[in-house]
Amino acid sequence: MRALTLLGDRQLELLDTDPPPPPAAGEVQVRVKAVALNYLDVWGFRGMAFAKRKMPLVVGVEASGEIAAAGPDVTHLTPGQGVVMYGALTCGTCKACRAGRDNLCENVGGIMGFHVDGFTRDLINLPARLVVPVPDGVSLRDAACAPIGFATVQHMLFDNAKLEPGETVLVHAGGSGIGTAAILMAKQIGCTVITTVGDDAKAEKAKALGADHVINYKTERFEGVTRKLTQKKGVDVVFEHVGAETFNGSLLCLKRGGRLVTCGATSGPSTTLNLMQLFQQQYRIIGSFGATLKNIAESLDKMAAGLKPVIDTQVPLAEFERGLERLASRQVFGKVVVTL
Ligand SMILES: [Zn+2]
Repeated sequence: MRALTLLGDRQLELLDTDPPPPPAAGEVQVRVKAVALNYLDVWGFRGMAFAKRKMPLVVGVEASGEIAAAGPDVTHLTPGQGVVMYGALTCGTCKACRAGRDNLCENVGGIMGFHVDGFTRDLINLPARLVVPVPDGVSLRDAACAPIGFATVQHMLFDNAKLEPGETVLVHAGGSGIGTAAILMAKQIGCTVITTVGDDAKAEKAKALGADHVINYKTERFEGVTRKLTQKKGVDVVFEHVGAETFNGSLLCLKRGGRLVTCGATSGPSTTLNLMQLFQQQYRIIGSFGATLKNIAESLDKMAAGLKPVIDTQVPLAEFERGLERLASRQVFGKVVVTL
């Protein structure tokens, strides 16, 4: 079978490897159909110093597929059924896992495709508990964007920031995979959405997705525009993932008691914080990473109800690297999906 493997920094090779054995008890074997790309793939490809990882490494952190075979005791998943896979090897037995908080697992075996072998291969064996069925009416291409793209946003906006109908939210980088998902999910429950983009073409696309106000951060200061749009009150929630370049401006956009939720730092990981501002304004700053299995099911349900992920580009397996370049480019609007 094929396995797209990282041999060293920026060295990807499509290897011919042995298929996995038949699934053991408690496992399923999945035939991978689509892999959605994320910044984790870009960092992994370039080689990030912080990543303790096995090498060579099968890449791909987010994917969908079909059940190829089920272990002897697995009855709720049947061959041919569409599924998506959880992106980390969690234990299923620690306190966090038992509470359904897999993204806080105390014994996590690593992020698939980043620390340990990932999904860009024809067949993979996995614990059945880490596989979530795809509902009818959702394509495997779209479903591939559920485990990270949609579920991360579901977790950030609803579990963590507790976004409610009628509230105002500032979504940074509205053209990114998670930015597009955040716009869609916030609009779906009747929020007012302000978003930032880097050029006018993206501004049009963000408006078409439903954003109420779009700020071109290259030509306008987003914090000034946001305060003006909210009559100087500020927004209820800021959806952060840009990091150093925007973090302090984001805090200035919050109303008193507002919530900032962040899952990324693509522009850099360090900033300074005015602690007086933090406590006097009673801000809540919430770190968010990954998602729960429930968030993945919720995301797939949203897709089944018509909330489709925005797909920027679909490429075949042979063009995985071109997909990564597209994702890392400033032109991308939505997700990049690789089909196997
Ligand atoms: Zn655990």
